[in-house]
Amino acid sequence: MKRDGFSAEELFTSQNGLTYNDFIILPGFIDFSPDDVVLETKFTRNIILKRPFVSSPMDTVTEAKMAIAMALQGGIGIIHYNNSIEKQVEEVEKVKRYENGFISDPICLSPENTIADIHEIKEKFGFSGIPITENGKVGSKLLGIVTNRDVDFEKDYTKKLSEVMTRDLFTASQHITLSEANKLLRESKKGKLPIVDENGNLITLMSRNDLLKNREFPFSTKDAKKQLRVGAAISTHQSDRERLEGLVSVGLDAVVVDSAQGNTIYQIEMIKWIKSKFPSLDVIGGNVVTKAQCENLIRAGADALRIGMGPGSICTTQMTMACGRAQGTAVYHCAKYAKESGVPVIADGGIANTGYLSKALSLGASTAMMGSLFAGTTESPGEYIYKNGIRLKKYRGMASLEAMEDGGGKRYFADNAKIKVAQGVSGEVVDKGSVMDYVPYLVQGVKHSFQDIGVRSISSLHEKLYSGELRFENRSSSAQIEGNVHDLYSYTEPKYK
Ligand code: GDP
Ligand code: GDP
Ligand code: 5GP
Repeated sequence: MKRDGFSAEELFTSQNGLTYNDFIILPGFIDFSPDDVVLETKFTRNIILKRPFVSSPMDTVTEAKMAIAMALQGGIGIIHYNNSIEKQVEEVEKVKRYENGFISDPICLSPENTIADIHEIKEKFGFSGIPITENGKVGSKLLGIVTNRDVDFEKDYTKKLSEVMTRDLFTASQHITLSEANKLLRESKKGKLPIVDENGNLITLMSRNDLLKNREFPFSTKDAKKQLRVGAAISTHQSDRERLEGLVSVGLDAVVVDSAQGNTIYQIEMIKWIKSKFPSLDVIGGNVVTKAQCENLIRAGADALRIGMGPGSICTTQMTMACGRAQGTAVYHCAKYAKESGVPVIADGGIANTGYLSKALSLGASTAMMGSLFAGTTESPGEYIYKNGIRLKKYRGMASLEAMEDGGGKRYFADNAKIKVAQGVSGEVVDKGSVMDYVPYLVQGVKHSFQDIGVRSISSLHEKLYSGELRFENRSSSAQIEGNVHDLYSYTEPKYK
């Protein structure tokens, strides 16, 4: 077969480091529609995602709201750690409690509790369907249930729950399967299905709304208990071992050990400790950009690697530290090396549009981690502000002076330093609306791109990458100008890129 262009190996074996913008992928043959493209991929050795998207552990990007939205849409969010242990644990717990099969540890109250207690739970977790048991705990006799409808119009918050609870309950017995219980839940037309043992003690609870969520989000990222999956980041500090224990106790699925330069004795020791203490918890090491760095973290036990040192939109590392690597080159070499050990890599930072997403995947990444793309959405933390009539939200590097002052320098070994050298900036991004609209756009964009490339899946993209069938070309500086909008007097920027 006549082949134009170059294989990735040829392209990336040069003295120049290449960014996503420096190269282009040559088109392949199309005999399928974008709808036939499947974006299933590996996030870590053991966690599969239906969509290759990960939101960054940054305090202006990922807390529970973002992580829930990402998991519902088939990606995953990584909760940041620029907060107290309690706060980070609470965010993880909110994600884990958002959707369930059987709610294994439902929050209960006793008949002696008051309406105020119901409102407090509603405020913290967002639900108010509370089983009432004799001693206020799971495992004790089920007496009734209180839901929104029982307390909506009650002005007296001191009223005891025994006065408002519904006592006539539709329950199921302990040995029921999930599918049978779902059927009962549908048929009973009740919002909750408490499950009890032969003595009437509450064992678990089911919620009708979980069935609706499952139907509405067929691609969502869930564990065996049908709870949404979530990741969280920690630093390499000794003290963060306690943090991780808290996170694991509420059901954390994967931990990101967060260092700007991951090839350190501290990170290696942390990964080894995690793997011995929590063998079934997947660990993501990084950040790395060379094979030698990858080797050390893989040997320590990493289940995935985060690739990127300096490509982030808020990042000044390459400028201030003179150290890092162009992201295209870093992703290609690290992915190729890690693949030999079965370790997937995450292309972290510098993703500015759907094209860059496809480029990251085409260089061997299994997923892409994004900060700026998801900042400024309804689900990112922070309030909207206005500047010159434009609606904006704050987005800042975790090594910006501002974030470090709030405790965010741990990633950069800078939290104890007297003189702080920033490796990031603080700024604003434009309001993008909800990620519930944005992620479907990204999915569709990547599917169209895969169609042009002529591949139906990420695994087949990677096969073609390593066989040399996938062809690339360098873009000269004028090719880059040609590839952008040019020669117009004015035009309207699209809402999404
Ligand atoms: P599915 O692809 O989500 O249906 O996954 P499974 O095939 O493992 O589902 C097994 C059963 O669990 C089916 O009856 C599903 O409808 C049900 N199921 C899946 N997710 C949820 C959920 O979040 N909550 C509840 N209650 N049931 C679920
Ligand atoms: P409610 O009627 O206000 O309780 O809310 P819904 O039933 O609409 O939603 C409750 C959601 O929270 C479901 O997705 C549950 O799986 C989830 N959840 C997680 N933990 C608990 C819990 O301890 N109690 C209740 N009621 N729901 C929980
Ligand atoms: P973005 O998607 O905005 O281009 O990049 C996000 C990524 O930049 C994050 O996932 C993280 O790896 C990295 N990052 C976050 N904060 C900083 C910072 O202050 N400095 C540097 N060098 N990188 C950062």
